[in-house]
Amino acid sequence: MAADSTVNFNLLHRTCKLVVLLCFLHISVTVVFYVRSLDIRFAFVQNQQSHSNVTQPNQVRQFSSSTGAKEVQREEQRDEQKPPEERRVEEPQKKLQKCPETSPLLVGPLRVEFNTPVSLEQIKKDNPNLQSGGRYRPKDCEALQKVAIIIPFRNRDEHLKYWLYYLHPILQRQQLDYGVYVINQDGEEIFNRAKLLNVGYTEALKEYDYECFVFSDVDLIPMDDRNTYRCFSQPRHLSVSMDKFGFRLPYNQYFGGVSSMSKEQYLKINGFPNNYWGWGGEDDDIYNRLASKGMSISRPSGETGKCRMIRHDRDKKNDPNPQRFDRIAHTRETMYKDGINSLSYRVVRVDKLDLFTKITVDVGKP
Ligand code: BGC
Repeated sequence: MAADSTVNFNLLHRTCKLVVLLCFLHISVTVVFYVRSLDIRFAFVQNQQSHSNVTQPNQVRQFSSSTGAKEVQREEQRDEQKPPEERRVEEPQKKLQKCPETSPLLVGPLRVEFNTPVSLEQIKKDNPNLQSGGRYRPKDCEALQKVAIIIPFRNRDEHLKYWLYYLHPILQRQQLDYGVYVINQDGEEIFNRAKLLNVGYTEALKEYDYECFVFSDVDLIPMDDRNTYRCFSQPRHLSVSMDKFGFRLPYNQYFGGVSSMSKEQYLKINGFPNNYWGWGGEDDDIYNRLASKGMSISRPSGETGKCRMIRHDRDKKNDPNPQRFDRIAHTRETMYKDGINSLSYRVVRVDKLDLFTKITVDVGKP
């Protein structure tokens, strides 16, 4: 009986030891796994932060104000002060590849006509990816250029509708990161196209770091989407083959209608003249500025550069400028004191509309 109980006791003792040992082993394994999982989470959060440091500032600069950028920065700083396990864990963002030199979405020649009426609502429906103010950037690749499209304007709403109807889809197929700025001359004074273009350049840059500027009349529509609305190594003349001129250049130095310039090219010539009031001459002055700085004009082929002009009577308060011949003859002397460095105007109102940003300005009078 005594021997039996000794045997039982020994068995119980050994079983208990085994249980304690197993418990110890279990706890050790749990601790090891826990510590390792902490390491992994820490590394993941660090990776997230270095990733967001690269992409976030760009993202903010793209479409929001500097206030938005500061808010993100503050959020990141608050995050950095937290222990690793409490930091925000976000989905890693896809770094977009650069868009190709030639967009694969282009279709070539287009049918352009102005007989069928178009409505802003329809244009809005046709372009669901536009952002407020007429902004767009491709979703699947990083655009090669940030382009501000500047349209000098007064009382041409019907023409503007056609422009928006045709151009928004074209610009999106061209995979541009772009914004449309309609610069509306306030009041009834005589029209000043070049000054409005200078205003557009200045105002667009306040919103986004555009690197390329396309200056377009509101009544000119390209007939081929391979005529890309972007900048080149030399200033570009895009409306080279207008129906109005029998699909050819009216003269070799012609630089009117639609043109584009990089920021550097534009600044090199001190922007555009501010003192051409009424129709004509300002585009010749711009050509003279470019030529005097040794720049040449880049152009698409006559076929790709075809475009249509919406027929209209001459606007009131835009009579031919009788002083233009005299002014053009003196560009080389006047260009350093009349240009972006002497620009003055007053913004009357800014309307961020669905399809474009409308900036109404008082540009004064002659
Ligand atoms: C004017 C330009 C105009 C061109 C074509 C020239 O005489 O000076 O401003 O663009 O004609 O119409």
